[in-house]
Amino acid sequence: MIPAIEKAPLEEIKKFQEAKLKETLVYLSENSPYYKALFAKENIDITAIQTLEDLQQLPVTTKTNLQENNDDFFCVPMHKIVDYATTSGTLGNPVTFGLTDGDLERLAYNEAISFACSGIQQGDVVQLMTTMDRRFMAGLAYFLGLRKLGAGVIRVGAGIPELQWDSILKYNPKYLITVPSFLLKMIEYAENNNINYNASSVKGVICIGEALRNQDFSPSVLAKKITDKWDIQLFSTYASTEMSTAFNECGHFQGGHHHPELIITEILDDNNQPVAAGESGELTITTLGVEALPLLRFKTGDIVRLHSEPCLCGRTTVRVGPVVGRKQHMIKYKGTTLYPPAMHDLLTFFEGVQGHLIEISTNDLGTDEILIKIASNEPTEELLDHIKDHFRAKLRVTPKVEFIAQDILNKIIFAPMSRKPVTFIDKRI
Ligand SMILES: [Zn+2]
Repeated sequence: MIPAIEKAPLEEIKKFQEAKLKETLVYLSENSPYYKALFAKENIDITAIQTLEDLQQLPVTTKTNLQENNDDFFCVPMHKIVDYATTSGTLGNPVTFGLTDGDLERLAYNEAISFACSGIQQGDVVQLMTTMDRRFMAGLAYFLGLRKLGAGVIRVGAGIPELQWDSILKYNPKYLITVPSFLLKMIEYAENNNINYNASSVKGVICIGEALRNQDFSPSVLAKKITDKWDIQLFSTYASTEMSTAFNECGHFQGGHHHPELIITEILDDNNQPVAAGESGELTITTLGVEALPLLRFKTGDIVRLHSEPCLCGRTTVRVGPVVGRKQHMIKYKGTTLYPPAMHDLLTFFEGVQGHLIEISTNDLGTDEILIKIASNEPTEELLDHIKDHFRAKLRVTPKVEFIAQDILNKIIFAPMSRKPVTFIDKRI
Protein backbone atom coordinates (compact mmCIF):
# COMPACT_ATOMS: atom_id res chain seq x y z
CA MET A 1 0.00 0.00 0.00
CA ILE A 2 2.62 2.55 -1.05
CA PRO A 3 0.98 5.66 -2.59
CA ALA A 4 2.33 6.12 -6.15
CA ILE A 5 3.69 9.61 -5.39
CA GLU A 6 6.04 8.15 -2.74
CA LYS A 7 7.84 6.14 -5.43
CA ALA A 8 7.89 8.90 -8.05
CA PRO A 9 11.06 10.61 -9.27
CA LEU A 10 12.07 13.55 -7.04
CA GLU A 11 11.30 16.10 -9.74
CA GLU A 12 7.74 14.77 -10.02
CA ILE A 13 7.29 14.91 -6.24
CA LYS A 14 8.47 18.54 -6.29
CA LYS A 15 5.98 19.49 -9.05
CA PHE A 16 3.22 17.68 -7.17
CA GLN A 17 3.99 19.56 -3.97
CA GLU A 18 4.15 22.90 -5.79
CA ALA A 19 0.63 22.38 -7.13
CA LYS A 20 -0.56 21.51 -3.60
CA LEU A 21 1.25 24.53 -2.18
CA LYS A 22 -0.54 26.90 -4.56
CA GLU A 23 -3.90 25.42 -3.52
CA THR A 24 -2.95 25.83 0.14
CA LEU A 25 -1.99 29.49 -0.32
CA VAL A 26 -5.31 30.25 -2.00
CA TYR A 27 -7.14 28.44 0.81
CA LEU A 28 -5.24 30.40 3.48
CA SER A 29 -5.77 33.73 1.76
CA GLU A 30 -9.52 33.07 1.59
CA ASN A 31 -10.15 31.38 4.94
CA SER A 32 -7.46 32.13 7.53
CA PRO A 33 -7.91 35.43 9.42
CA TYR A 34 -4.29 35.17 10.60
CA TYR A 35 -2.66 34.59 7.20
CA LYS A 36 -5.03 36.98 5.43
CA ALA A 37 -3.88 39.77 7.76
CA LEU A 38 -0.26 38.70 7.47
CA PHE A 39 -0.30 38.66 3.65
CA ALA A 40 -1.89 42.14 3.64
CA LYS A 41 0.54 43.54 6.20
CA GLU A 42 3.62 42.18 4.40
CA ASN A 43 2.32 43.01 0.91
CA ILE A 44 2.51 39.38 -0.14
CA ASP A 45 1.19 38.41 -3.55
CA ILE A 46 0.57 34.68 -3.25
CA THR A 47 0.48 34.24 -7.03
CA ALA A 48 4.21 35.04 -7.01
CA ILE A 49 4.82 31.80 -5.05
CA GLN A 50 5.23 29.15 -7.74
CA THR A 51 7.97 26.82 -6.52
CA LEU A 52 9.09 25.28 -3.24
CA GLU A 53 12.11 27.61 -3.31
CA ASP A 54 9.70 30.59 -3.44
CA LEU A 55 8.53 29.62 0.04
CA GLN A 56 11.56 31.50 1.32
CA GLN A 57 9.84 34.75 0.37
CA LEU A 58 7.14 34.06 2.94
CA PRO A 59 7.45 34.71 6.68
CA VAL A 60 7.69 31.75 9.05
CA THR A 61 5.07 30.94 11.67
CA THR A 62 6.32 30.45 15.23
CA LYS A 63 4.84 28.72 18.26
CA THR A 64 4.41 32.17 19.81
CA ASN A 65 2.41 33.39 16.78
CA LEU A 66 0.18 30.37 17.23
CA GLN A 67 -0.19 30.82 21.00
CA GLU A 68 -0.97 34.52 20.77
CA ASN A 69 -3.40 34.27 17.84
CA ASN A 70 -4.87 30.80 18.27
CA ASP A 71 -8.43 31.72 17.23
CA ASP A 72 -7.29 33.57 14.10
CA PHE A 73 -5.65 30.41 12.76
CA PHE A 74 -9.02 28.65 12.46
CA CYS A 75 -10.21 28.53 8.85
CA VAL A 76 -13.65 27.07 9.54
CA PRO A 77 -16.58 28.06 11.77
CA MET A 78 -16.63 26.23 15.11
CA HIS A 79 -19.69 24.14 14.22
CA LYS A 80 -17.52 22.35 11.63
CA ILE A 81 -15.15 21.11 14.35
CA VAL A 82 -15.68 17.43 15.14
CA ASP A 83 -12.78 16.91 17.55
CA TYR A 84 -10.89 19.27 19.87
CA ALA A 85 -7.25 18.54 20.61
CA THR A 86 -4.50 20.55 22.25
CA THR A 87 -0.72 20.55 22.02
CA SER A 88 1.06 19.22 25.09
CA GLY A 89 2.01 22.70 26.28
CA THR A 90 5.43 21.69 27.62
CA LEU A 91 6.63 25.11 26.43
CA GLY A 92 4.10 27.77 27.33
CA ASN A 93 0.35 27.70 26.77
CA PRO A 94 -1.19 24.74 24.98
CA VAL A 95 -2.66 25.55 21.56
CA THR A 96 -6.12 24.33 20.55
CA PHE A 97 -6.36 22.33 17.35
CA GLY A 98 -9.84 21.63 16.04
CA LEU A 99 -10.34 18.95 13.44
CA THR A 100 -13.10 18.85 10.86
CA ASP A 101 -14.55 15.64 9.51
CA GLY A 102 -12.20 16.03 6.54
CA ASP A 103 -9.24 16.52 8.90
CA LEU A 104 -10.07 13.28 10.72
CA GLU A 105 -10.18 11.53 7.36
CA ARG A 106 -6.79 13.05 6.44
CA LEU A 107 -5.39 11.98 9.82
CA ALA A 108 -6.68 8.44 9.33
CA TYR A 109 -5.11 8.26 5.86
CA ASN A 110 -1.83 9.61 7.25
CA GLU A 111 -1.63 6.99 10.00
CA ALA A 112 -2.79 4.18 7.73
CA ILE A 113 0.01 4.78 5.21
CA SER A 114 2.49 5.38 8.04
CA PHE A 115 1.64 2.12 9.82
CA ALA A 116 1.71 0.31 6.49
CA CYS A 117 5.19 1.79 5.96
CA SER A 118 6.25 0.10 9.22
CA GLY A 119 4.79 -3.21 8.05
CA ILE A 120 1.37 -3.35 9.71
CA GLN A 121 -1.17 -5.05 7.43
CA GLN A 122 -4.88 -5.59 7.16
CA GLY A 123 -5.94 -8.23 9.68
CA ASP A 124 -3.06 -7.59 12.11
CA VAL A 125 -3.97 -7.01 15.75
CA VAL A 126 -2.40 -3.95 17.40
CA GLN A 127 -2.33 -3.07 21.10
CA LEU A 128 -2.65 0.68 21.67
CA MET A 129 -0.68 1.57 24.81
CA THR A 130 -1.16 5.35 24.72
CA THR A 131 -3.98 7.47 26.02
CA MET A 132 -6.84 8.23 23.62
CA ASP A 133 -8.33 11.03 25.71
CA ARG A 134 -6.89 14.09 27.51
CA ARG A 135 -7.32 16.13 24.29
CA PHE A 136 -4.50 14.10 22.79
CA MET A 137 -4.46 13.90 18.99
CA ALA A 138 -2.04 10.98 18.65
CA GLY A 139 -4.11 8.26 20.34
CA LEU A 140 -7.14 9.09 18.24
CA ALA A 141 -5.01 9.25 15.10
CA TYR A 142 -3.63 5.76 15.77
CA PHE A 143 -7.10 4.34 16.25
CA LEU A 144 -8.46 5.97 13.08
CA GLY A 145 -5.43 4.90 11.05
CA LEU A 146 -5.60 1.29 12.19
CA ARG A 147 -9.31 1.18 11.46
CA LYS A 148 -8.71 2.52 7.96
CA LEU A 149 -5.94 -0.02 7.44
CA GLY A 150 -8.28 -2.83 8.47
CA ALA A 151 -6.31 -3.80 11.58
CA GLY A 152 -7.80 -4.84 14.92
CA VAL A 153 -7.18 -2.51 17.86
CA ILE A 154 -6.93 -3.30 21.59
CA ARG A 155 -7.23 0.03 23.44
CA VAL A 156 -5.46 -0.69 26.71
CA GLY A 157 -4.15 2.84 27.25
CA ALA A 158 -0.92 3.83 28.99
CA GLY A 159 0.82 2.07 31.89
CA ILE A 160 -0.23 -0.97 33.98
CA PRO A 161 2.09 -3.79 32.79
CA GLU A 162 -0.24 -6.41 34.31
CA LEU A 163 -3.17 -5.31 32.14
CA GLN A 164 -0.91 -5.01 29.07
CA TRP A 165 0.30 -8.60 29.48
CA ASP A 166 -3.20 -9.84 30.20
CA SER A 167 -4.31 -8.35 26.85
CA ILE A 168 -1.29 -9.65 24.97
CA LEU A 169 -1.84 -13.20 26.22
CA LYS A 170 -5.60 -13.02 25.54
CA TYR A 171 -5.72 -11.32 22.12
CA ASN A 172 -2.29 -12.09 20.64
CA PRO A 173 -1.42 -8.68 19.14
CA LYS A 174 1.35 -8.67 16.55
CA TYR A 175 2.23 -5.02 17.19
CA LEU A 176 2.28 -2.65 20.15
CA ILE A 177 2.23 1.16 20.07
CA THR A 178 4.03 2.65 23.08
CA VAL A 179 6.78 4.77 24.59
CA PRO A 180 9.85 2.50 24.23
CA SER A 181 11.14 2.90 27.81
CA PHE A 182 7.86 1.35 28.98
CA LEU A 183 8.95 -1.87 27.23
CA LEU A 184 11.65 -2.20 29.90
CA LYS A 185 8.88 -2.21 32.52
CA MET A 186 7.01 -4.81 30.47
CA ILE A 187 10.10 -7.02 30.39
CA GLU A 188 10.64 -6.60 34.14
CA TYR A 189 7.03 -7.52 34.88
CA ALA A 190 7.21 -10.54 32.59
CA GLU A 191 10.40 -11.76 34.25
CA ASN A 192 8.89 -11.41 37.73
CA ASN A 193 5.73 -13.23 36.70
CA ASN A 194 7.14 -16.06 34.60
CA ILE A 195 5.83 -14.76 31.28
CA ASN A 196 7.97 -15.92 28.37
CA TYR A 197 7.93 -12.66 26.41
CA ASN A 198 10.01 -14.08 23.57
CA ALA A 199 7.32 -16.70 22.98
CA SER A 200 4.55 -14.08 22.90
CA SER A 201 2.65 -12.94 19.80
CA VAL A 202 4.43 -9.55 19.70
CA LYS A 203 6.69 -9.11 16.67
CA GLY A 204 7.04 -5.34 16.41
CA VAL A 205 6.51 -2.10 18.29
CA ILE A 206 5.72 1.37 16.96
CA CYS A 207 7.69 3.59 19.35
CA ILE A 208 6.81 7.17 20.19
CA GLY A 209 8.52 9.98 22.07
CA GLU A 210 12.01 8.59 22.69
CA ALA A 211 15.03 8.13 20.44
CA LEU A 212 15.58 4.61 19.13
CA ARG A 213 18.57 5.49 17.02
CA ASN A 214 21.70 7.56 16.98
CA GLN A 215 22.30 9.98 14.11
CA ASP A 216 23.99 7.21 12.06
CA PHE A 217 20.86 5.04 12.61
CA SER A 218 22.69 2.61 14.89
CA PRO A 219 20.44 1.61 17.83
CA SER A 220 20.36 3.89 20.87
CA VAL A 221 21.27 2.55 24.33
CA LEU A 222 17.55 2.29 25.06
CA ALA A 223 16.78 0.32 21.89
CA LYS A 224 19.71 -2.05 22.52
CA LYS A 225 18.64 -2.61 26.10
CA ILE A 226 15.18 -3.66 24.92
CA THR A 227 16.18 -5.87 21.98
CA ASP A 228 19.05 -7.55 23.89
CA LYS A 229 16.32 -9.25 25.90
CA TRP A 230 13.20 -9.15 23.77
CA ASP A 231 13.55 -10.23 20.14
CA ILE A 232 11.20 -7.69 18.56
CA GLN A 233 11.49 -5.02 15.87
CA LEU A 234 11.32 -1.41 17.05
CA PHE A 235 9.99 1.20 14.59
CA SER A 236 10.32 4.91 15.19
CA THR A 237 7.48 7.26 14.50
CA TYR A 238 7.84 11.02 14.66
CA ALA A 239 4.80 13.30 14.66
CA SER A 240 3.20 16.28 16.39
CA THR A 241 -0.22 17.85 16.77
CA GLU A 242 0.86 20.91 14.76
CA MET A 243 2.08 18.77 11.82
CA SER A 244 -0.93 16.42 11.98
CA THR A 245 1.35 14.11 10.02
CA ALA A 246 3.57 11.18 10.97
CA PHE A 247 6.99 10.12 9.73
CA ASN A 248 7.39 6.36 10.23
CA GLU A 249 10.38 4.14 9.64
CA CYS A 250 10.11 1.29 7.17
CA GLY A 251 11.79 -2.09 7.75
CA HIS A 252 15.15 -0.62 6.69
CA PHE A 253 15.25 1.74 9.68
CA GLN A 254 16.79 4.73 7.90
CA GLY A 255 14.59 7.53 9.21
CA GLY A 256 10.89 8.41 9.03
CA HIS A 257 9.44 8.53 5.52
CA HIS A 258 7.95 11.80 4.25
CA HIS A 259 4.47 11.82 2.73
CA PRO A 260 4.50 14.46 -0.04
CA GLU A 261 0.71 14.55 -0.26
CA LEU A 262 0.42 15.66 3.38
CA ILE A 263 3.23 18.05 4.27
CA ILE A 264 6.07 20.18 2.91
CA THR A 265 9.31 20.05 4.89
CA GLU A 266 12.13 22.60 5.08
CA ILE A 267 15.21 22.52 7.32
CA LEU A 268 16.15 26.03 8.41
CA ASP A 269 19.04 27.58 10.32
CA ASP A 270 18.77 30.22 13.06
CA ASN A 271 18.28 32.94 10.42
CA ASN A 272 15.47 31.04 8.70
CA GLN A 273 17.71 30.17 5.77
CA PRO A 274 17.77 26.62 4.37
CA VAL A 275 20.71 24.55 5.63
CA ALA A 276 23.00 22.70 3.21
CA ALA A 277 21.82 19.20 2.19
CA GLY A 278 22.30 16.71 5.03
CA GLU A 279 22.98 19.38 7.67
CA SER A 280 20.89 19.57 10.82
CA GLY A 281 18.48 22.43 11.40
CA GLU A 282 14.98 23.24 12.55
CA LEU A 283 12.23 21.28 10.85
CA THR A 284 9.80 23.78 9.36
CA ILE A 285 6.57 22.51 7.86
CA THR A 286 3.64 23.53 5.69
CA THR A 287 0.62 21.28 6.11
CA LEU A 288 -1.27 20.18 2.99
CA GLY A 289 -4.96 19.35 2.91
CA VAL A 290 -5.74 20.51 6.46
CA GLU A 291 -9.09 22.31 6.70
CA ALA A 292 -9.44 23.64 10.25
CA LEU A 293 -5.97 24.79 11.25
CA PRO A 294 -3.47 24.64 8.38
CA LEU A 295 0.01 26.01 9.00
CA LEU A 296 2.41 27.76 6.63
CA ARG A 297 6.15 27.49 7.29
CA PHE A 298 5.62 26.51 10.91
CA LYS A 299 8.84 26.19 12.91
CA THR A 300 8.46 22.97 14.90
CA GLY A 301 11.39 23.59 17.27
CA ASP A 302 12.79 20.12 16.46
CA ILE A 303 16.35 19.86 15.24
CA VAL A 304 16.67 17.12 12.61
CA ARG A 305 18.50 16.09 9.43
CA LEU A 306 16.87 15.04 6.17
CA HIS A 307 18.16 11.99 4.31
CA SER A 308 17.52 11.99 0.58
CA GLU A 309 19.30 8.93 -0.85
CA PRO A 310 16.73 6.37 -2.10
CA CYS A 311 15.53 3.79 0.42
CA LEU A 312 15.63 0.04 -0.19
CA CYS A 313 11.86 -0.12 0.39
CA GLY A 314 11.31 1.59 -2.99
CA ARG A 315 10.15 4.95 -1.66
CA THR A 316 11.98 7.92 -3.14
CA THR A 317 10.74 10.37 -0.51
CA VAL A 318 13.13 12.05 1.91
CA ARG A 319 13.42 10.69 5.44
CA VAL A 320 13.59 12.58 8.70
CA GLY A 321 16.46 11.38 10.88
CA PRO A 322 16.28 10.91 14.67
CA VAL A 323 15.39 14.15 16.48
CA VAL A 324 18.62 15.64 17.83
CA GLY A 325 16.64 17.70 20.32
CA ARG A 326 14.35 20.65 20.77
CA LYS A 327 15.88 23.94 19.72
CA GLN A 328 14.88 25.70 22.96
CA HIS A 329 16.51 22.93 25.00
CA MET A 330 19.97 23.31 23.45
CA ILE A 331 22.62 23.33 26.16
CA LYS A 332 25.86 25.22 25.67
CA TYR A 333 28.54 23.75 27.85
CA LYS A 334 32.17 24.89 27.59
CA GLY A 335 32.23 25.04 23.80
CA THR A 336 30.10 21.94 23.36
CA THR A 337 26.45 21.99 22.44
CA LEU A 338 24.16 19.16 23.35
CA TYR A 339 20.50 18.29 23.77
CA PRO A 340 18.60 16.37 26.48
CA PRO A 341 17.77 13.26 24.37
CA ALA A 342 21.44 12.24 24.24
CA MET A 343 21.66 12.57 28.04
CA HIS A 344 18.43 10.64 28.63
CA ASP A 345 19.70 7.84 26.42
CA LEU A 346 23.03 7.72 28.22
CA LEU A 347 21.35 7.41 31.63
CA THR A 348 19.36 4.42 30.35
CA PHE A 349 22.67 2.54 30.26
CA PHE A 350 22.92 2.34 34.07
CA GLU A 351 21.13 -0.59 35.71
CA GLY A 352 21.41 1.21 39.07
CA VAL A 353 19.37 4.19 37.85
CA GLN A 354 15.66 3.66 38.56
CA GLY A 355 14.68 7.14 37.44
CA HIS A 356 16.24 10.46 36.57
CA LEU A 357 15.60 14.15 36.09
CA ILE A 358 17.82 16.61 34.23
CA GLU A 359 17.80 20.23 35.36
CA ILE A 360 19.50 23.00 33.43
CA SER A 361 20.16 26.36 35.07
CA THR A 362 22.31 29.42 34.51
CA ASN A 363 25.27 29.80 36.89
CA ASP A 364 26.93 33.01 38.19
CA LEU A 365 29.11 33.16 35.09
CA GLY A 366 26.07 33.15 32.82
CA THR A 367 26.80 29.70 31.41
CA ASP A 368 24.65 26.58 31.48
CA GLU A 369 24.90 24.22 34.44
CA ILE A 370 23.68 20.60 34.29
CA LEU A 371 22.28 18.88 37.37
CA ILE A 372 21.17 15.26 37.17
CA LYS A 373 18.97 13.88 39.93
CA ILE A 374 19.03 10.11 40.21
CA ALA A 375 16.78 7.67 42.05
CA SER A 376 18.56 4.42 42.84
CA ASN A 377 18.09 1.31 44.97
CA GLU A 378 21.82 1.32 45.62
CA PRO A 379 22.86 4.96 46.07
CA THR A 380 26.65 4.76 46.24
CA GLU A 381 29.41 7.33 45.55
CA GLU A 382 30.73 4.81 43.05
CA LEU A 383 27.59 5.06 40.94
CA LEU A 384 27.78 8.86 40.92
CA ASP A 385 31.43 8.72 39.78
CA HIS A 386 30.60 6.11 37.17
CA ILE A 387 27.85 8.33 35.71
CA LYS A 388 30.10 11.40 35.67
CA ASP A 389 32.89 9.46 33.93
CA HIS A 390 30.46 8.17 31.35
CA PHE A 391 29.18 11.69 30.61
CA ARG A 392 32.73 13.00 30.26
CA ALA A 393 33.70 10.21 27.87
CA LYS A 394 30.58 10.12 25.70
CA LEU A 395 29.27 13.69 25.73
CA ARG A 396 32.28 15.74 26.88
CA VAL A 397 30.38 17.40 29.71
CA THR A 398 30.70 17.08 33.49
CA PRO A 399 27.30 17.35 35.10
CA LYS A 400 26.58 17.57 38.82
CA VAL A 401 24.94 14.32 39.85
CA GLU A 402 23.00 13.77 43.08
CA PHE A 403 20.54 11.28 44.54
CA ILE A 404 16.86 11.94 45.08
CA ALA A 405 14.28 9.66 46.76
CA GLN A 406 12.21 7.66 44.27
CA ASP A 407 8.84 8.87 45.63
CA ILE A 408 9.87 12.54 45.44
CA LEU A 409 11.21 12.06 41.92
CA ASN A 410 8.05 10.27 40.79
CA LYS A 411 5.91 13.22 41.90
CA ILE A 412 7.93 15.47 39.60
CA ILE A 413 8.16 13.04 36.66
CA PHE A 414 4.52 12.00 36.66
CA ALA A 415 3.01 15.45 37.08
CA PRO A 416 -0.81 15.05 36.98
CA MET A 417 -1.34 17.71 34.29
CA SER A 418 1.33 16.37 31.95
CA ARG A 419 0.68 13.68 29.34
CA LYS A 420 4.32 12.79 29.08
CA PRO A 421 6.81 12.02 31.86
CA VAL A 422 8.68 15.19 32.90
CA THR A 423 12.38 14.28 32.86
CA PHE A 424 13.83 17.65 31.82
CA ILE A 425 13.43 20.98 33.58
CA ASP A 426 14.81 24.18 32.11
CA LYS A 427 15.46 26.80 34.79
CA ARG A 428 17.56 29.08 32.60
CA ILE A 429 16.74 32.74 32.46
ZN1 LIG B 1 12.15 2.92 3.36
